[in-house]
Amino acid sequence: MGMASAGCIGKEATFIERLDIHPRIIESAKRNGYTSAWSIINSSPEDIEQRSGLTAAETTHLISCVVNATIKKPCTAWQMFQCPDVVPGPYPCISFGCQSLNKILQGGLPIRSVTEIYGPSGSGKTQVALQLAIQVQLPVNAGGLGKGTAYICTESQFPARRLRQMADHCRVHHPFAQCSPNSSSRSLDKWTNNIHVQHIANMEDLLNCIQKQLPMLMQHREVGLVVIDSVAAVFRVEDAQSQSRSQSLTALGYALHQLAMTKNLAVLALNQVTSARGHDVLHGSFDDFVPALGLAWSNLITTRLALSRKYPQSQQCVIPVRNLEVHFSPWLPRASANFIITEEGLKDMMNPN
Ligand code: ATP
Ligand code: MG
Repeated sequence: MGMASAGCIGKEATFIERLDIHPRIIESAKRNGYTSAWSIINSSPEDIEQRSGLTAAETTHLISCVVNATIKKPCTAWQMFQCPDVVPGPYPCISFGCQSLNKILQGGLPIRSVTEIYGPSGSGKTQVALQLAIQVQLPVNAGGLGKGTAYICTESQFPARRLRQMADHCRVHHPFAQCSPNSSSRSLDKWTNNIHVQHIANMEDLLNCIQKQLPMLMQHREVGLVVIDSVAAVFRVEDAQSQSRSQSLTALGYALHQLAMTKNLAVLALNQVTSARGHDVLHGSFDDFVPALGLAWSNLITTRLALSRKYPQSQQCVIPVRNLEVHFSPWLPRASANFIITEEGLKDMMNPN
């Protein structure tokens, strides 16, 4: 007999074949359909015993090996010190395409977490989200994730023209698009077709979209960023104190975290401000503003960033300076950065003062 059949070569061992137990136990289990961890954990020991003809002791041994192989064990501080590889490495993030912002966020918008940007109307929240929706499409070595965006609009129409303006700039001037041998990287379709827009008016539809529609979309399209513009708009003011509002907020926060963790993506929730002292939101100073939705929502986000707009001292320069500040985050120090918004998108300031 010569070579093994092509079907056998390179055939991956089943879960049960990889366990470090007596081959006879593995054979008996396999023969009776117990090839996955799920099939074993989901059956009673008596069932396994009866169907596979194993003894009670062998069955207990099999189950405990399966459980040990399945459960992710915590590692000790000593193990971390001995072998840094056991510590999960930093996750990739989405570059803002603006160095000063990347610096305060230590690389960009993090995946596997929920980030909020709050700020007054006109501060630039939507501009930041649009830029990230473009940036996420870049390959990992160019600061993106090579994936698309799901953009949920709750307030106003999706600013398609503005997106087109920013995407157009990216495809013409970004070094990646310039150097890419793939000509589609220079086509506008590629950059805008990867942004899936959904307009939603109420909380029920928002939850439905996050729990059902987005996972369905993700079965055939790669999504690296989910934007909600904005989260406050689906909560009516008159519901402010109601119990159902805090229940909906909790459900929303939970669903967003689930999505971020299971699909390895970044969630960006834009939020409006309310006046802390009952002043007119448009004319008060930034300290007078607090993020909308109160404490219940604050506890559901991982990172909070505050965006504000200020005019420079020099009246010769009419472009307003924007400021993004890390308000809280489990891993970032409190820091802030200035930037400007131009026709092309977010830009670093030449002279960051
Ligand atoms: P709201 O809460 O009302 O949605 P927002 O925080 O989302 O407000 P944006 O719509 O992101 O605000 O920002 C609007 C601002 O962005 C404009 O006031 C303008 O200063 C700037 N902007 C928009 N388009 C351009 C452009 N093409 N060139 C330069 N600046 C622009
Ligand atoms: Mg907006």
